[in-house]
Amino acid sequence: MLQIRCTSCHSAYPESSMPYRCPRCGGIYDYDGPFPIQRADLANPGTSIWQYKNSFGPSSQHAAVSMGEGKTPLLMRTLNGQSLGFKMESSNPTGSYKDRGTSLLLTELKSRNISFAVEDSSGNAGASFATYCSWSGIDCKIFVPESASGAKLAQISRSNAELITVPGARANATQALLNSLQSDSVVYASHAYQPFSLPGIATIAYELVQELGAAPGTVIAPVGHGGLFLGLMRGFTALYEGKLIQQMPAMIGVQGLGFHPLVAHFHPEMSTACEPAIESLAEGVRIQEPARFEQILAMSKIMNCDFVACSNPELENAISELWKMGIYVEMTSALVWAAFRKSLKKLPEPIIFILTGSGLKY
Ligand SMILES: [Zn+2]
Repeated sequence: MLQIRCTSCHSAYPESSMPYRCPRCGGIYDYDGPFPIQRADLANPGTSIWQYKNSFGPSSQHAAVSMGEGKTPLLMRTLNGQSLGFKMESSNPTGSYKDRGTSLLLTELKSRNISFAVEDSSGNAGASFATYCSWSGIDCKIFVPESASGAKLAQISRSNAELITVPGARANATQALLNSLQSDSVVYASHAYQPFSLPGIATIAYELVQELGAAPGTVIAPVGHGGLFLGLMRGFTALYEGKLIQQMPAMIGVQGLGFHPLVAHFHPEMSTACEPAIESLAEGVRIQEPARFEQILAMSKIMNCDFVACSNPELENAISELWKMGIYVEMTSALVWAAFRKSLKKLPEPIIFILTGSGLKY
């Protein structure tokens, strides 16, 4: 059966407590094989990501904490002769794709009888975690940049969670959380570092194949810490290894200019590019050191993928176009449309845009 192990020293994830990194060597935890998805798992329409629970590894053994996440609409449209699909992750219970991972994270917290946890976030993951903790009776404290969108801060502060706003960069929120940890017994339920979210995110790939009847040609998604992008890669790999798709889609990861470490890695000429004086408007992905950087690099060797950075003017044009099409998303989600609009090469179709969060948050 699928197990979780440290990617450095290969020790197994403990059955009690919930370390966010390996206590032995500081390594990152990950699953030790592909997610086991089978044709029967895609057979019925389902009402949440738990339709695919057989692919969840150890988490599949526990009572699910679910608020009906997943099963989001895929809106298809032909534009300039191209087949496009908009995956409306804004339709999740808290308005972002994060709920798919949070459901599994909370399932683990409950199964381990943990009654208090801390988390940090640019906003959406914190709002999702606060909501699911409130629903399932777990107390939590959430560290968020002071500059996060007001709607995200309201989502957290109106729940049962304790909201801590931290001045300055996104990384300051993580540091404030780490400084606050008085002992190893406090659970840091990091959506970026804890492995449990990945099989939940991978369900986006399963749904797309269920909806399209085949693999998409191209999938375009924002990249911050990389959990969304890696989860999608893992999902399509699982489908391919399970012989449920004939070929893997091309994958394009999009970052905001100035916060584009993966773009700089794949396109060294971009390594010194930055947005002068102002921060990227894509607040959800202002990450300089992605938690899943190495794992994405490893997957990029077996998948066709590329990375693109978009500037603030490109983002502002893109969000305006999306809104005028009736697609009401937040700025971070507009990265995918901005990348598509500036793409010079012909992309395999259908081209799927992962629209991560609702415009009501912005
Ligand atoms: Zn280790």
